[in-house]
Amino acid sequence: MQFDNPKIQEAYLKLKNELDLLKNKNDIIRSPILKNLYDELKSLTPDKRASFGLQVNRLRDELLTMVSSFNSNIKKDPVDISAPFDDNVATDLQPDFLSAQTGSRHPLMIELNYILDIFYRMGFEALESFEIDDDYHMFGSLNFPEGHPARDDFDTFLIDEVDKEGRHFISPAHTSSMQNRVLQSKASLLDNNDPIAAVSAGRVFRNEDLDARHEHTFYQLDGVYVSNNVTVGNLMATLKTFLESYYDKSLKFKTQPSYFPFTEPSFEFVLSCPFCEGQGCHICSKSGWIELLGCGMIHPNVLKMAGIDSEKYSGFAWGMGIERLVMMKYNIEDIRHFEAGKLNFLRQFK
Ligand SMILES: [Zn+2]
Repeated sequence: MQFDNPKIQEAYLKLKNELDLLKNKNDIIRSPILKNLYDELKSLTPDKRASFGLQVNRLRDELLTMVSSFNSNIKKDPVDISAPFDDNVATDLQPDFLSAQTGSRHPLMIELNYILDIFYRMGFEALESFEIDDDYHMFGSLNFPEGHPARDDFDTFLIDEVDKEGRHFISPAHTSSMQNRVLQSKASLLDNNDPIAAVSAGRVFRNEDLDARHEHTFYQLDGVYVSNNVTVGNLMATLKTFLESYYDKSLKFKTQPSYFPFTEPSFEFVLSCPFCEGQGCHICSKSGWIELLGCGMIHPNVLKMAGIDSEKYSGFAWGMGIERLVMMKYNIEDIRHFEAGKLNFLRQFK
C-alpha cells in the first residue's frame, strides 16, 4: 500500500512494523501515531483537509484489516524451544543465518578461561557458581547472622519461590555463596594432608544504580585455600603471582584494612597502577594505586559451619570482579560495554 502524503506513508510503515504489538482494534485507534495525524488534520486549511483526512481514514482501515488477518494467522501450536530450528519453522520462512566466521567468543569468556587457566596451573580446581541460591549459602554459612547490617551491602534480587524455612531464593550478589559447598565437599582432603584449593566463577547480581563502573549483572571469581599453618603471607603471594601472570608484568601492591563478615582479618588488595607504573593517570584517579579486590583469612565460624576444625586448619579467601580485571587490562572505560551487545566493541576481541 502506498500513500501520496509522505507523513502518512511514514506512519503506515512504522505501524506496519509494530503490527504484532497492536493486538486489537483499540490499540490502533489509540495509537499515538494515528492520533497525531488526526490532530494535524484539525490544523489544516479546508482545501487540504479533505484529501489528508481521506488518506488518514484509508490508513486506519488498512491497519484494521491487517490486524484482523494477522490475529487469525497467529500460529498457536506450542513451539519446542530446544528443538533444532528447522523443526519449528517452515524451510521457506527460515532467516539467513550469519556464517560461523562472523561470530566470536565474548571477551569476558575469553578472559575468564585465561584466568581459570592461570589458577589451574597454580593448583586450584575451578567450579561454576550458582545463579540462584538460598539464604543460607548467600549469607548464613558466611557468618552473616539474620538481620546483620552487613547484609545491606549485598543488595540483590529475590525470587518469588521460597526455601524450606520460607525465605526467598536469591540471585547471589557474590560467588562466595559457593564457599560452604566447596569447603564441605572437600574437607576430607585435609585428612590426607592435601590442601583445599578451589576457585568458583560465575554471574552475580546487584541492585545497583548503573554507571560506567556499576552493572546489575557481572562476573566474579571467589577463591579459597585451606590447609595447615596458612598465613596472610600465603594469601598475598597467591594474589600477586596470579596478577603478575595475568597482566604479564611485575606489580607492587599494598593492603588496606577492610571488613567482610566471612574473613578475619579482612583486607582490600591495592595494586600499583599497571598503566602508569604508580605515577598517577586517569585510570587510577592520579593516585598511582587501584583498589582491586577484597580478601582475608577465612573466619573460624565459616570453617566450623563447613565441618572443618578451625583450631587445626586455617585458610584464606578472596573475591574479585572479572570485568574490573579485564577493563584494566584493555583500558575499557565503561563496564556497560560488556552487556550492550555492540558488535564494534565485541569484534575488537576476535
Ligand atoms: Zn595509573
